[in-house]
Amino acid sequence: MAKEISIVWFRQDLRLSDNPALTEAVQAGKILPIYILDDCAPKPFNIGGASKAWLHHSLENFNKSLGGQLNIYAGKTSEVIESLLQQYGVKNIFWNKCYEPWQVKQEKDVKTLCKGNDIRCHEFNGNYLWSPNEVLKDDGHYYKVFTPYKKRAYLCPPRKTVYVQDKPQCIKDEKNSISIADLNLLPKKLNWHQQMLKHWEIGEIAAQKKLDAFIANALSGYKEGRDFPGQNQTSLLSPHLHFGEISPAQIWESIDRVEGPDQEHFLSEVVWREFSCYLLYHFKRLHADNFNAKFNLFPWKDNASHLKAWQTGNTGYPIVDAGMRELWQTGYMHNRVRMIVASFLVKNLTIHWHRGRDWFWDCLVDADLANNSASWQWVAGSGADAAPYFRIFNPVTQGEKFDKHGDYTRKYVPELKDLPDKYLFKPWTAPDEVLRAAGIELGENYPKPIVDLAASREKALDAYQTLR
Ligand code: FAD
Repeated sequence: MAKEISIVWFRQDLRLSDNPALTEAVQAGKILPIYILDDCAPKPFNIGGASKAWLHHSLENFNKSLGGQLNIYAGKTSEVIESLLQQYGVKNIFWNKCYEPWQVKQEKDVKTLCKGNDIRCHEFNGNYLWSPNEVLKDDGHYYKVFTPYKKRAYLCPPRKTVYVQDKPQCIKDEKNSISIADLNLLPKKLNWHQQMLKHWEIGEIAAQKKLDAFIANALSGYKEGRDFPGQNQTSLLSPHLHFGEISPAQIWESIDRVEGPDQEHFLSEVVWREFSCYLLYHFKRLHADNFNAKFNLFPWKDNASHLKAWQTGNTGYPIVDAGMRELWQTGYMHNRVRMIVASFLVKNLTIHWHRGRDWFWDCLVDADLANNSASWQWVAGSGADAAPYFRIFNPVTQGEKFDKHGDYTRKYVPELKDLPDKYLFKPWTAPDEVLRAAGIELGENYPKPIVDLAASREKALDAYQTLR
């Protein structure tokens, strides 16, 4: 293959290090590095607003790492690639596999195209520790429960990292490549993304720095601390992982070198990401259909004003409102709070998990089809290995337990900042004089609860009984 021209087709692997497709392609000769914005996902799964803004900057960073040689296109993947094959006399295409159903279809189309043109395709597992078809039960079926999946996965060593030895010799397609700005990923009118992105440094170097800082400052104590949203004890690596600015194998190897009780727990969370992708691969409609078909009959409610109150962080339940406002302001929400707000939507408000999935999809910078779908189904009770339906998070006791002194809640719901801890998660129980002293008028500058917790919990459990 020496001196042949190869396309390297980048998607969710916007990094130079530990990129198996790039590493192999560079050994084969000159490369034509390409990124194609292909709107192939059906609505509502086309790329969300926060992800678009992240992608814009991630591409800019990656282009810099490639010395400005990243070629950018918009259109149907197989058509764009077909036109490049002819123009550049391409002999090979290299890519790291992706697992959203429409990405799988893209890969199939590219393979068909290459077959007809005598081009060799080289595909790699660059984005996960294990390929989803690698970890199976003895009878060949896939695991539906996390712990046995993890046990089985741990019997096979995860993929080892690989690094490019020589500087890539890139070809710039001056004629057809468009600019990153031409992809129109940044909103024209609404400038909310500028505020949101102030919370983040984007790109491969930033991701590596974040991993190093996490290992130095937060890994010790992660197992306990990860549940407390005010403690900054999680890695915040999720958007970097989603866009492939860092690989799970790089994380695995760095963490594996560290001794300590928290290391295994952290790796286990990274394996949840593997498991979500694995479920999506084997149950291709995880994003749309209840994994447990019993839930197809669940009597969900449509309530536009409740949905709006949830989306905008105006439910009257302070920890729920803090989470939804964190999401809007930063494009991120702490995992514990994601579980609380999701439980509130699907159980206390009995609004379909699809509505929550869609809002998260648009607002999260780490919006990820597999993780988002599997997690929503987990909370809703309809998923594989889901939380039992009767486990309904109580936003008052959850707040009191996991944000005891209200650092997180006061940050995102500043109108409650002067309320004593005792009433912070249930302001409606505070005596009038306490509310007055804290400058709060319920229903005026902070909402009254939109539903009664005990009554809505009973209704949810009754609705669940109809499925039995
Ligand atoms: P850390 O605690 O530092 O964990 C390290 C990495 O492990 C994460 O970056 C992530 O890749 C993985 N991970 C951690 N927890 C989970 C989990 N429960 N499931 C799968 N992978 C996990 N995660 C996403 O990446 N994208 C989503 O769209 C998404 N949607 C979610 C929706 C709901 C309703 C819920 C309850 C959870 C969702 N999660 C999602 C999972 C989890 O909340 C985030 O991965 C985590 O909060 C990211 O923060 P971190 O990087 O600091 O995590």
